[in-house]
Amino acid sequence: MDQINEFNKLIEFIDNNKQNNEKDNDNLLDDINHLINYSTKYEELNNLIGFDVNQFKKRLKQELINDHIKKQSYDRPYISITELLECPRRIYYERKKYDIDLKNSFYFVYLKLSAEIGNTYHKFIQENYDFTETEKTIISEHYKTKGRVDAIKNNFLYEIKPVDQKDIKDAYNIKHLYQCSIGAYILNNSYDYKIDTITLIYYIRDNFRKDPISFDYKYDEQIGKKFLENALILYNCLENNKLPEKSNNKDDCKYCLYKKYCLNKEDKNKLDNKEEILFLL
Ligand code: SF4
Repeated sequence: MDQINEFNKLIEFIDNNKQNNEKDNDNLLDDINHLINYSTKYEELNNLIGFDVNQFKKRLKQELINDHIKKQSYDRPYISITELLECPRRIYYERKKYDIDLKNSFYFVYLKLSAEIGNTYHKFIQENYDFTETEKTIISEHYKTKGRVDAIKNNFLYEIKPVDQKDIKDAYNIKHLYQCSIGAYILNNSYDYKIDTITLIYYIRDNFRKDPISFDYKYDEQIGKKFLENALILYNCLENNKLPEKSNNKDDCKYCLYKKYCLNKEDKNKLDNKEEILFLL
């Protein structure tokens, strides 16, 4: 009976809070903390925890670790288009299976959820527009590169990307255009397509009531070609155990799991001269 009363009080608390709630999103954290304080009181009356959020997060983290280990066991004869947009040195470390401290990695445990939400949005847009092809796998044997394009219609190549509502002004990211330029180059040169326009579609990840926005760009063959030439350099590095150059974009390093190897590289080179530095640009 006590439990039912406490539960009713909790509902009443939430309802009252709703009525008085004229706060904006900035105050959401305060509300959550307030609610947690109340629910902790409720919890004190019970010895059992119905939903253990720490256990939930541990499990999510373990799944991310398992996925990482699984990914490392794949045989990957081609460089992927998305790898060409990242730090080549990081790709080298990853593919050469350099050790990382798995327990102290993957702090953002909701990564998989975020990816699943993205996949659902992608699929929804792909299935509800008259694209002629979606999720087309493309391979360039010449450049040892493989990838998948989101959608094609006539001479248009489409890429579907997420953006949060607050970041909408900064939605456009040059890397998205590069990614499509590589895809368009492979389509035109290996599959006889005539792609001349790239369309980036951004869906608002945290507000599905808003319309997606889109931008059209003229396809520039030189951009795609330059990245694909880098694919051959990276491929050569991997084949010959040569360490590629670091990324010159500091943002790439922010969440990099291989920082410790990069920071110690010079000393490491003195001790172990097996690897040479090869410049990618
Ligand atoms: S720390 Fe930065 S430069 Fe080094 S591998 Fe990672 S992303 Fe590349």
